[in-house]
Amino acid sequence: MYVNNKKKACEAVGFKSEEYALDKNTTQQELLSLVKELNEKPDINGILVQLPLPNHLDDKAVIEAISPKKDVDAFHAVNVGKIMLGEYDFLPCTPSGVMEMLHSCSIPVSGKNCVVIGRSNIVGKPMAMLLLHENGTVTICHSRTQNLAEICSHADILVAAVGKPKFVTADMVKEGAVVIDVGMDRDENGKLCGDVDFENVKEKCSYITPVPGGVGPMTIATLMKNTLKAAKLQNNID
Ligand code: NAP
Repeated sequence: MYVNNKKKACEAVGFKSEEYALDKNTTQQELLSLVKELNEKPDINGILVQLPLPNHLDDKAVIEAISPKKDVDAFHAVNVGKIMLGEYDFLPCTPSGVMEMLHSCSIPVSGKNCVVIGRSNIVGKPMAMLLLHENGTVTICHSRTQNLAEICSHADILVAAVGKPKFVTADMVKEGAVVIDVGMDRDENGKLCGDVDFENVKEKCSYITPVPGGVGPMTIATLMKNTLKAAKLQNNID
């Protein structure tokens, strides 16, 4: 689903996209050779490796093999380091899409209590960093957090990136809070849902993102933005 949506978005904005759907038994060496080949191709401006990879492949080594200039997911250590410093070319797509939503709704972050549930390298950690860059007072929760519900209930901005269906319930949400649901989960009937119990939480908060149709499309839009930026950087276009 992710890959197809990305391909459709490329078509919609007029980018050429190439998919390399490799066999599940592909070796590390074969995958690294393909990444190297794409790094060297001038007509390829952005490369992304759809994670997770099969267990026998080292995703860290594969991500590190991507040229930082073509790393449109912003997962390479060089780009992660730049984000920490606040001096970046690309922002990771999901957290950046979330910030764009906050900006477009004129939701202030500065001085607000921001709680991020989840500390993955691709969502939770960079999400917290971007909120911090905008002067939010940020708390990161994870599976070892004690009093999670209590911490969440003080959040002005609550971001759920847990991967557990309807994990955030109304009692965990402050009246009038802004709730961002990053989760892409399946409920007990196999239906796509988020990490937030949308129906009950929506009555309590001021803003809430639906699943599907919330953070997901913003992630893809940011990927397109990053790819355009990569193409411009590689071709010295302002
Ligand atoms: P992940 O790597 O599995 O990380 C999940 C995080 O949630 C971990 O930090 C984990 O804590 C924490 N967690 C798990 N159980 C918890 C609990 N009971 N209480 C508190 N924290 C708990 O997942 P991810 O890649 O960040 O993705 C999170 C969700 O977002 C998934 O549903 C994924 O499909 C979705 N997603 C959506 C988009 C989009 O574009 N919409 C993009 C990326 C991901 P520990 O670190 O302690 O284990």
